[in-house]
Amino acid sequence: MNARIGLGNDLHRLQAGDGLWLGGVLIPCPFSSVAHSDGDVLLHAVTDAILGALGRDDIGQLFPDTADENKGRASADFVKEAVRLMRKDGYRIGNLDAVIQLQAPKFSPHKKEVRENLAHLLGCYGKDVNIKAKTGEKLPPIGTSEAVAADVVVLLIPDASIQNGSDADESVRILP
Ligand code: MG
Repeated sequence: MNARIGLGNDLHRLQAGDGLWLGGVLIPCPFSSVAHSDGDVLLHAVTDAILGALGRDDIGQLFPDTADENKGRASADFVKEAVRLMRKDGYRIGNLDAVIQLQAPKFSPHKKEVRENLAHLLGCYGKDVNIKAKTGEKLPPIGTSEAVAADVVVLLIPDASIQNGSDADESVRILP
């Protein structure tokens, strides 16, 4: 098997609210994401990047925003399903690189926590997860805090420890 690369992107409108989910962490701020689920753009982009690398259906096909079961749903569930499919297909995370586009609040105080949470969800080392944030230079829609967006690229590499097929251990592996 060869390594596979995937790309994910997401954008959500912002509204007045009491916090923004990013990477599975609730960032305190006077905004929230307009969404059917918890509106975590980073986890949505991560999910799509993994699914894209696998050549599988995307997040909207697997988790329709018209389904009641996905209403208010934690986006970590979407990542966990993508990781389950990744392991089933015999891959693990090589590395992941993400860009969050957010005018406010500052992301840097939350970077370490988001990185560690994401690595935990993905079953990989923190060093293999990189996240950076950019403002929108006060230009709409990002820079006027009308929207938040994320871009993610991920490299999946074959995992020799995973037996491909129905016997695959689909549990998420937790590394220190
Ligand atoms: Mg989304």
